[in-house]
Formats: sequence, structure tokens, C-alpha cells
Amino acid sequence: MDKIQMTTPLVEMDGDEMTRILWKMIKDDLILPYVDLKTEYYDLGLVNRNDTNDQVTIDSANAAKKYGVAVKCATITPNAARMDEYKLKEMWKSPNGTIRAALDGTVFRTPIIVKGIEPCVKNWKQPITLARHAYGDVYKNTEIKVSGKGKAYLVFEDENGETIKELVHEFKGPGVLQGMHNTDKSITSFARSCFNYALDTKQDLWFATKDTISKKYDHTFKDIFQKIFDEEYKSKFEEAGITYFYTLIDDAVARVMKAKGGFIWACKNYDGDVMSDMVSSAFGSLAMMTSVLVSPDGIYEYEAAHGTVQRHYYKHLKGEETSTNSVATIFAWSGALRKRGELDNNNELIKYADALEKATIGTIESGKMTKDLALISSLDNITTLNSEEFILEIKKNLDKELA
Ligand code: NAP
Ligand code: MG
Repeated sequence: MDKIQMTTPLVEMDGDEMTRILWKMIKDDLILPYVDLKTEYYDLGLVNRNDTNDQVTIDSANAAKKYGVAVKCATITPNAARMDEYKLKEMWKSPNGTIRAALDGTVFRTPIIVKGIEPCVKNWKQPITLARHAYGDVYKNTEIKVSGKGKAYLVFEDENGETIKELVHEFKGPGVLQGMHNTDKSITSFARSCFNYALDTKQDLWFATKDTISKKYDHTFKDIFQKIFDEEYKSKFEEAGITYFYTLIDDAVARVMKAKGGFIWACKNYDGDVMSDMVSSAFGSLAMMTSVLVSPDGIYEYEAAHGTVQRHYYKHLKGEETSTNSVATIFAWSGALRKRGELDNNNELIKYADALEKATIGTIESGKMTKDLALISSLDNITTLNSEEFILEIKKNLDKELA
């Protein structure tokens, strides 16, 4: 078989620990035999981030802007223990944070549905995609622990020195106080990313805030979404046969539990943090979840939603067998290759990406899976495979798909 040709490279961001091991297996066994892979390679492994003073992360984000499509392996976010373990010069920032700040994006997470792994919510028949705004609110807050009696104010001073001052509360005793913000610019790019993603995947878009209580803050989110929808997306949504639906966050939660799935649920930063963990665990597992960062100007970065699976890596280093689920990382590759194919009108590459996903799902549905899934699967003919055996089983199915 001739290898599938690529016209434009995609940006490859390598990572750490067990996912770095899986990364190589996936490339060697599932991609390189079939695709004449063109990538611009950036090693975001912690050793190289430290060697380059983290310049490699910035370079990789710039490359993503240049080429439009990137695929990223999970990476270590350093903490005190990693400072010692890797003899780091500095506690480098989270690469995901750096890349998100550079691309100004929204993170979309979708469960991968397979037979035998049933959602806990029995009426969920199709995936629910969470779209999380990744800037501001409580994640960039300022807090004070109030020690006793006194008045708390919210003060804004504009560039001419004019001030607006609002009393927050007159404290009669100890308490707590918090200030937070967002910007029209960031909310606008969040809205555009959501509308574009809905059009791209032909799914309805839901958005919810608490605008009845937060009449300025949350209401601004609601208003910006509505304005952008009316001005830029209304007719495109009609053409695509999809809808935009705004409701209160508590109403949204109630409706989600009764829905059958198949839509995108856009959430403010905190709601998205909390609800994505609820939705993903109700669908089965973090290793059965795709994750893509989409920027308002259409840059796509695909990754797995889980971390570097450190505990499995230490077993691997001791020469012990591991049974690590590579599905989310495989889907990061297939997602990036498919997007590259769509942008380049490369049908062969799109078909290959579809086949790779089909082969992966088929492998699990035939009862062959890694330990994490074997523990929760309702199938009765289960074979638990180690990390590499699972990938080689997928390869057998992929050969059949492509034959
Ligand atoms: P983790 O890598 O997500 O793993 C936590 C546990 O979840 C594992 O020990 C394992 O459970 C299970 N698990 C996760 N992915 C799995 C998979 N593919 N197959 C099978 N089991 C899986 O989280 P962590 O151990 O807390 O974090 C490790 C490192 O990852 C940290 O340095 C953190 O900074 C980094 N991290 C990176 C990203 C990213 O780059 N996107 C995201 C999160 C965390 P059992 O041990 O019970 O088998
Ligand atoms: Mg969380």
C-alpha cells in the first residue's frame, strides 16, 4: 500500500512520562506505516522545557498559529516534587496555560462512546460536549479575609483618574471578600469559538449563566453571545439546521439530565470546570474523552484530557507491565490529522483518520481493552491487554479497515 501523502505539516508537541511512551507506540504502529507523516516537531518534555528555559513551549504555540493544527501529548506541570526530580532551574508554568494564553481559546471536551461502557445517565445516547471558557472569573480573583468590622468597596479608576465606587458590604464582624473580572474581548472570542465549533460539528449550542442574579456580570456574557449570534451566525445556523439556545444555568443542569445528548454545552470558566468532571465521569472515564482547544481565528490544538499517568510510568521504568489506555491520545492524533485533511482537501487523510477511530472503537467493542475499561465494561467476553498489545490489536483492525 502506498503511504498517504500530506501537503502541510501539523505541529507535533511531544510530552512526558507514560503518555510519551504511548506517543511513540502510536506513531510507530498506527501512523507511520500508513501516512507519510509531515510534522514540525517540538519536544515539550520537561527535560527539554528546562533546557530551553521554556522557549520551546512558546515556539510550539507560535508554530500552531502558523500551521493552524497541532497535536499535543500530556505534559508535566511542575510542582515542588518535580523541581527535585528533574533538577529544574525554575518552576516552569503549565504548558497548557501558556498555549491557551497564546491562542486565546476555548476547550471542548467530548466523551468517546463505545458499546459496553454505558453512561450512568441512561437517557444519554449521544455525547455531550462541554465548552469551557478558559479565562478569568474566580481563576484570576483577588481575595481578602476580613478580620472584623468595616466597609468593603468595589472601586474602578479609569485612565483619567475618574472613579466609580460601590459599597459591597458593611461588615459587623469577620468574613470574606472576593473581586473578579472578565473582559469583553475574551468573552467575545469564547462566543465565536463556540459558534464556530457548533457549525463545524453540526450540533446545537446551549449556553447558560446566572444572569437573573448577576445582572451586570453574567448578563454581559448573555448579551455578548446574543449580539454575536444575531449579527454573525444566525443565518449560518439556519442553513446548517442547528439552533442556539440560552437558558439559566440551573435550568440547563435540569435539562441536561433529561436530554439524550448530541449537543454542545458552553459554560463559564467555573461551571465548565465542575460540569466537565461530572459529565466525563458519568460517561465512563477520562481516558475516553477527546479534548480540543479552538481559537477564535480557527486554530485547533488536539490533546488527551488526562495527565501523564505518572503511576503507570514508574511501573514501566521498573520493567513491570502496564495497561494504560491510549484511546484519548489516539483520538488526539486522528482529530488533528482529520482537521489537516479538511483544511488541505486531503480526502485520503480524512478517511484514514476515520478508519483509525473506527478500528479503536471496534477493538474495545470486540472485548479487547485496557484494564481501566475492563473494570467498568458490561461486555462478558473481555480480554485485558497491556499497553502495547492493545495498540497492536487496533493495528490489526486498522489493516482490515484500510484493506
Ligand atoms: P493522570 O495522569 O490523569 O492520572 C491519574 C490516574 O488516572 C492514573 O494514575 C490512573 O489511575 C488514571 N488514568 C489517567 N489516564 C489514564 C489512562 N490513559 N489509562 C489508564 N488510567 C489512566 O493525573 P496525575 O497522575 O494526577 O498527573 C500526572 C501528571 O500529569 C502531573 O505531573 C500533571 O501535572 C500532569 N497533567 C497534565 C495534563 C495535560 O498535559 N493535559 C493534564 C492533567 C495532569 P490508576 O493509577 O488507578 O490506574
Ligand atoms: Mg476540575
